[in-house]
Amino acid sequence: MSLANKLSQERRARLAAERVLEQKKAELQAANRKLGNHARQLSDEIVETRAQVKTVRDENERVKSDLSVANEKVEKLERRLWHSIESIQDGMAFFDSDSRLIAANEAWLSVFDGLEAIQPGISYVEILQFLTEEGIVDTADMHPADWREMALDRWQSASPDPEIIRLWSGAYIKVFDQRGHGGDVISLAMDITDTVRNEQRLKEARRKAEAAARAKSAFLANMSHEIRTPMNGVVGMADLLQDTDLTEEQLLYAETIKNSGEALLVIINDVLDYSKIEAEKLVLHSDLFDLERCIHELIMLLQPNARDKGLELLVDYDMFLPTQFTGDRGRLRQIITNLMGNAIKFTEEGHVTIRVVGVHSEGEKMTDLRVTIEDTGIGIPADKVGHIFGEFNQVDDEQNRKYEGTGLGLAISQKLINLMGGEIWVESEEGKGSCFGFSLPLPAAEKVASDCFRLPDGVKTALVVEPHDVSRMILKRQLEVMGIEAICCENGAQALTQITPDLGVVLCDHNMRDMDGLELAEVMRDAGQTTPIILLSTTSSAAEKDPARCHVQAVLQKPYPRRSLFAALAALEVVASPSDPSETAGSTEEEVPAVRTMRVLAAEDNKTNRLVFSKMVKSLDIELKFAENGLEAVEMFQSFHPDIVFTDISMPEMDGKEATQKIRALEADTAQHIPVVAMTAHAMDGDADDILAAGIDHYLTKPLRKDAITDHIQKVWHEGLRPPLPEDQAEG
Ligand code: ADP
Repeated sequence: MSLANKLSQERRARLAAERVLEQKKAELQAANRKLGNHARQLSDEIVETRAQVKTVRDENERVKSDLSVANEKVEKLERRLWHSIESIQDGMAFFDSDSRLIAANEAWLSVFDGLEAIQPGISYVEILQFLTEEGIVDTADMHPADWREMALDRWQSASPDPEIIRLWSGAYIKVFDQRGHGGDVISLAMDITDTVRNEQRLKEARRKAEAAARAKSAFLANMSHEIRTPMNGVVGMADLLQDTDLTEEQLLYAETIKNSGEALLVIINDVLDYSKIEAEKLVLHSDLFDLERCIHELIMLLQPNARDKGLELLVDYDMFLPTQFTGDRGRLRQIITNLMGNAIKFTEEGHVTIRVVGVHSEGEKMTDLRVTIEDTGIGIPADKVGHIFGEFNQVDDEQNRKYEGTGLGLAISQKLINLMGGEIWVESEEGKGSCFGFSLPLPAAEKVASDCFRLPDGVKTALVVEPHDVSRMILKRQLEVMGIEAICCENGAQALTQITPDLGVVLCDHNMRDMDGLELAEVMRDAGQTTPIILLSTTSSAAEKDPARCHVQAVLQKPYPRRSLFAALAALEVVASPSDPSETAGSTEEEVPAVRTMRVLAAEDNKTNRLVFSKMVKSLDIELKFAENGLEAVEMFQSFHPDIVFTDISMPEMDGKEATQKIRALEADTAQHIPVVAMTAHAMDGDADDILAAGIDHYLTKPLRKDAITDHIQKVWHEGLRPPLPEDQAEG
């Protein structure tokens, strides 16, 4: 090989080596760069990690310091909490889920009086053991083991009820145990000794107060009897005194004694009733009674007062309302008497109307009874209407002051009505009149068929002659319900122009101004008119004695019950011809001559009352015998065979109620029923019902009235007996 070749070969090799070198250099540089980069990256990471380590270290430091602050706080709070728990008066203890004591405050531990065993770790069962064995707890009549068993049962229940325990020292501790989520129990023991002592004191005070109230009630009952008995003497004697030969001045004195005595009795009764309701001693009695009859009896009693003032008393008893209800008859009577009495008292002219309606609910057999008493009196000023139901509240103005009263009547009525589940209200216009109303839910004992008062045949048209608007309207409505068309007019003169041959009946008022009812009847008969006439009179006894009575078919005492009107109209159909009824009456009397005197037995232990009674019946043609107690009354009932018995209720040996029961037992096998009339001085509630329940038919409240006694005797009279009153005096 040539040198040149060798050189060129060498150059090429060198060049190739140089290229390789160059390449290796480049690779080395690249590797260096990469290494440099990596080293930088590593260094960055180290810096970063260092920073992180520092942060974590800082954080650690902070957490450490926070933790110690928190620890301090917790310790502080725990100290405070425990301090608080220690400072409370009530005992507090904590138990773990195994019922072992964790901790307890001083108050809780103090009960154990320093017993060393009572410390954290002791079980509840052991605590109970100490309580009983050391005599800390007073288990009263219970055996300690039973007491522990009872206490443990309670403790183990999911949520134990609070329990009161009595300690040996007489202290009372109320224990509340509250179970927490993990089974821990917090037990709170409150000292309630003061509360228990106060309760005991209150109970004692209440017992004493109740005893005092009972004593007051008994005192009132006795006072009622004690005052009413001598008052009976005073009023009765004053009444008799009035019938003797007195000068005008003496008569005035006697009348004043009687009126004052009666007024005093009214006040006593009111005060007694009110006290009784207040003491919650008033018991309502429920019995079957006839409401319509009850109202008419009341009207009879109030009629004289109304008549003296020239007032008309009207009854508008819903034609479709039953009469038999179940309720407290006596109390209902008292309410109606009070409202009607007020209406008459505060009315100088016009009328007083009692309306009775009711909504009868078929399903429930209950009637929502609504009674209103409407008057045309002085009325009540609008600003006083709200006050009059309050006790002792009266309208105090010029007009009112002249009327007497206690101001208790409405308060008593309201309380009674509320007790019976009803309501009372009033609407009034000063100078025009008032309307008092009350509603009562009462069970109706019967249903009234809508055709119950329908007259089958006969009378189709009636002429009503009645000057009084309200009366006329009531009568018209009653007739329409009976299926009779009513033609109305206000006086006799108008009536005479209305009479036609097809008229079935003329119903005319007795006391009309221009021509009274009997005069109208006379004129009609003189004119040859034979239409039957029914006279409606507030003084039926006077009408019965009038010679013109023969012209009318019937006399109805106003206001009359629905049945009386119906019966009078129904009776017309069987009257063959309008003959003179007095003829028939006369002939009956002749046919059945009177054979013996009526026998009256009166049982009364009080000598004055016996004297009063005998004076009151002095003018009657009767044979009177007295029994001085119930026992004697029963004996004399068998030997004397009275036609009627009057009996006092409170008597020695045997009271009037028992005597009547014995009399009723004697009558049991006979068809006989001798009326027994109680004479009672008791003003307290319930008496009326007790009396009637004993088999007594009627009762009179002392002081007795001559008229009332005479009335009862006359009612028993029947053919075969000599009339107790001479005919010229025999008025109702
Ligand atoms: P008393 O009638 O004994 O005063 P009440 O409680 O029955 O007591 O009545 C209270 C008052 O209500 C009466 O004094 C009277 O002022 C008023 N008052 C009651 N009823 C009527 C009435 N029908 N008309 C006018 N005022 C009446």
